[in-house]
Amino acid sequence: MQCLNNCCDDIWSAEGVNPDVDSESSLLTTELPRCIHCGRLARPNILMFGDWEWNERRTAEQQQRLNNWLNTVDNLVIIEIGAGTAIPNVRLMGERIGKPLIRINLAEASIHRSNHLSLATTALQGLTGIRAALENLHGDRFDGA
Ligand SMILES: [Zn+2]
Repeated sequence: MQCLNNCCDDIWSAEGVNPDVDSESSLLTTELPRCIHCGRLARPNILMFGDWEWNERRTAEQQQRLNNWLNTVDNLVIIEIGAGTAIPNVRLMGERIGKPLIRINLAEASIHRSNHLSLATTALQGLTGIRAALENLHGDRFDGA
């Protein structure tokens, strides 16, 4: 959660926030969550479209940890599952990292880069096929590491 008015930079857990809606009137029967600092309304700390009030601190910290981790791994392959083109954030992130990408997508698998692979199938079938290929390549020694 975060303060709706951004009174401070704090983000806190939504544990204990249990909204209840009357199914007949479609009205909230419980109190709206409040900022733990100023008492004004609180909101989920998720980015909405055109959301100028979103507190990005947590996401920036996560991005920094991801960047740090990416700098420590070798032979990275990204497996993108089900990321569509309507909201392409995940799709573009996988392409932006610059590592080989396996795109598993039943409806929108196409990808046009030399070190990328498209699998027009379900997530389960795609992952099962990748595992079978790795086991075939490495014999029964493959442990996923
Ligand atoms: Zn506040």
